[in-house]
Amino acid sequence: MKIKVDFDLCESNGLCEAMAPDVFELDDDDLLQVHTDETTPENLDRVKQAVAACPRAAISLEGDE
Ligand code: SF4
Repeated sequence: MKIKVDFDLCESNGLCEAMAPDVFELDDDDLLQVHTDETTPENLDRVKQAVAACPRAAISLEGDE
């Protein structure tokens, strides 16, 4: 599935990074970096947890698993 982040909604609170630090990371300027735009069998559960944890609903998944 494609991982999409709406950076206009993101408030850089890092909750997604807490769930999936291999995919989401806040840089030194508190800007969210997304290391991949595709889910994998390894990261899918954690990416879904990040989607659920985001209080701004800034992360979405598109396409088939
Ligand atoms: S949890 Fe949502 S608002 Fe927080 S850093 Fe991640 S994408 Fe941005």
